[in-house]
Amino acid sequence: MASVSLKQLRKSYDGKTDVLAGIDLDIAHGEFVVLVGPSGCGKSTLLRMLCGLESITGGSMSIGDEVVNHLPPAERGIAMVFQSYALYPHMTVYQNMAFGLKVAGQGKAAIKERITRAAATLKIEHLLERLPRELSGGQRQRVAIGRAIVREPRLFLFDEPLSNLDAALRVQTRLEIAKLHRQLDATIVYVTHDQVEAMTLGDKIVVMHEGQIQQAGTPLDLYQQP
Ligand code: ADP
Ligand code: ADP
Repeated sequence: MASVSLKQLRKSYDGKTDVLAGIDLDIAHGEFVVLVGPSGCGKSTLLRMLCGLESITGGSMSIGDEVVNHLPPAERGIAMVFQSYALYPHMTVYQNMAFGLKVAGQGKAAIKERITRAAATLKIEHLLERLPRELSGGQRQRVAIGRAIVREPRLFLFDEPLSNLDAALRVQTRLEIAKLHRQLDATIVYVTHDQVEAMTLGDKIVVMHEGQIQQAGTPLDLYQQP
């Protein structure tokens, strides 16, 4: 069963040139898909279209059995983790994690239960009363991931989540993301420039070039060819 299906997905910003020129991609439930490719090849555009922050020019996107082409972002069941954390600076960690759930109309008890569970998974229980400026870069990124987890999305999108971290934290956070993927049985689309990240995290690596998929396969398929 394909959890996400892209068929001849197209995007043009100016109505003339295609930034995405017909993307066909099936992602199975629980699959970890890594998108790689040179700057400007359309990776971020693809993520933004999936979560509904960018309109679709042609083709179709579905999640499960539902075509989501024009569905508002909040109704897609997708959570995105950005490179820059995007935490609300005046809110505590708890409030940051609760915010989206409150907006979605969840009750206080349910919110608390979800945050408690996610905080334990990410080992950030002791940080819940802190403000973002009181956290290290690695802690902030974990909170950003926590904020995505509590929404219990059907699809996680990561846009270069480790690129603001130093080398040691990158390794540690990468291992945590791999563990989360297993624990949550999460379906993930993950953009990176880093070949090690791609090879260690991806079930499938999709190599993009100028708005098209140039190659797709397992890390072994792509990097250990004779
Ligand atoms: P990547 O994430 O692979 O670096 P992007 O999706 O950011 O690629 O960009 C793909 C192409 O689309 C680039 O040529 C970029 O200049 C262009 N582009 C991205 N966002 C916009 C935008 N909001 N308006 C116009 N052009 C854009
Ligand atoms: P408000 O709804 O007044 O903006 P908060 O969003 O800070 O308040 O908190 C809402 C509820 O969430 C509180 O009543 C409290 O029970 C719970 N809560 C807040 N912070 C924590 C925390 N660190 N750990 C557990 N529960 C919390």
